[in-house]
Amino acid sequence: MTNSNILHYINGEISAGTSGQSQDVFNPATGQVTGQVALANRADVDAAVAAADAAFPAWADTPPIRRARVMFKFLELLNRHKDDLARAITAEHGKVFTDAQGEVARGIDIVEFACGIPQLLKGDYTEQVSTGIDNWTMRQPLGVVAGVTPFNFPAMVPMWMFPVAIAAGNTFVLKPSPLDPSASLMIADLLRQAGLPDGVFNVVQGDKEAVEALIEHPDVQALSFVGSTPIANLLYEKGAKYGKRIQALGGAKNHMVVMPDADLDKAVDALIGAAYGSAGERCMAISVAVLVGDVADRIMPRLAERARTLKVKNGEQLDAEMGPIVTAAAHQRITGYIDKGVAEGAELVVDGREFDASNTGEGCDDGFWMGGSLFDHVTPDMTIYREEIFGPVLACVRVPDIATAIRLINDHEFGNGVSCFTESGSVAREFGRRIQVGMVGINVPIPVPMAWHGFGGWKRSMFGDTHAYGEEGVKFYTRQKSIMQRWSDSIDAGAEFVMPTAK
Ligand code: NAD
Repeated sequence: MTNSNILHYINGEISAGTSGQSQDVFNPATGQVTGQVALANRADVDAAVAAADAAFPAWADTPPIRRARVMFKFLELLNRHKDDLARAITAEHGKVFTDAQGEVARGIDIVEFACGIPQLLKGDYTEQVSTGIDNWTMRQPLGVVAGVTPFNFPAMVPMWMFPVAIAAGNTFVLKPSPLDPSASLMIADLLRQAGLPDGVFNVVQGDKEAVEALIEHPDVQALSFVGSTPIANLLYEKGAKYGKRIQALGGAKNHMVVMPDADLDKAVDALIGAAYGSAGERCMAISVAVLVGDVADRIMPRLAERARTLKVKNGEQLDAEMGPIVTAAAHQRITGYIDKGVAEGAELVVDGREFDASNTGEGCDDGFWMGGSLFDHVTPDMTIYREEIFGPVLACVRVPDIATAIRLINDHEFGNGVSCFTESGSVAREFGRRIQVGMVGINVPIPVPMAWHGFGGWKRSMFGDTHAYGEEGVKFYTRQKSIMQRWSDSIDAGAEFVMPTAK
């Protein structure tokens, strides 16, 4: 039997599952094991899907206003417990507490959006499309839908998915990251307290095996994925094979262009926060600064000074600006990228590998610590430019003009987020129109769209047609039905063999 203490949540109950498999969960700040998370096998996934399938008919039949009332209650409970959730995130992910609070707040936005589901599900109606005939469309839930989420937002990313899916009348199976699984169970408990019927929301802990079981399961109608591009791509292909609706959001390499006319104070603040916040482990982190014209010579000394003096410490300390890296393996991967950047000829201005962890906090000597790194003279052929590092490493590329900057960004395989700092309206307008990226910020470094606008990148940052949350999310979790209706006194006698047209 498993000795894990972070278990599954199936049909309204905590369940140990049957696999007997588990893995360690760490506090990245101390490097200590804080728990064991169960790893679901196919039978555990089957149990969760069966519970969700059994709960679907009654939940789908529940009037939207009553489903919304459960969401309102959940919202109230979330607001009451949001700091507990944030603390749990800091303890397993390592991000600083205030950042974890921000993550929960952005998740709460989506719950607020989902509370408006009766309005969002309102269909279209056309009276008299032909004499005596009316036509309307409605959107109905799909059935059991699944969500597979990454380590870097253990509360927010699940909340991109299940509030909309559930409010729309689906039942849900969440497969969170095994690196920071506790938030999922806290959410499950709040949903239970809010009055959500058993089986409507389920959690299976685990990794690859659980995800494969979900994507292959005949009773799972749709799967939302957020994580790295190779897995997003794989699940998109597998989804097609198994006849599922898929939205798979992948990795990123987000650029921030700084124009010569930009307010440099604001650009420095934006770059430092967006590159090193959450230790760069954000899909909307800025990992490339594109410095136009003479900006590089003016901004580099200031960036270097700020990168060197970042307050890197245990995220529980309220003045911390950056916490540890999520795992020892991720620490090693990021270090490898820095080594490679040096070997390929980029200039390492600030070296995060040399970080002295003695001031990170009590008991933190064995944590997964690293400082911020800053590279200058990075070129598009270098590995540190092409690949997603997902760590506190900022690569600066020097370009002569905005046209070169736009070409550079458009040529990159990823297209998640991008930003341009300028005081020129016409540059901003042209940039917004020409850039091949899904989410654009003008003087905004991390342009995560609000709950009602939907989130999604372009190119290899997203596979599928509908973005997460917002009206696109409602579309993803529902399908359209069109009903055309005529009553007997307007029905002509006799069979018609020609294509019906408006009469
Ligand atoms: P990951 O791809 O390793 O894992 C994501 C999820 O997939 C986890 O639940 C994991 O258990 C599961 N998984 C891992 N390997 C699998 C396999 N072989 N088959 C099936 N499932 C598998 O990603 P991560 O390291 O947890 O998160 C970081 C990545 O997520 C980065 O690439 C980041 O850019 C991306 N991300 C993207 C967005 C976005 O909106 N585009 C948001 C957050 C994170």
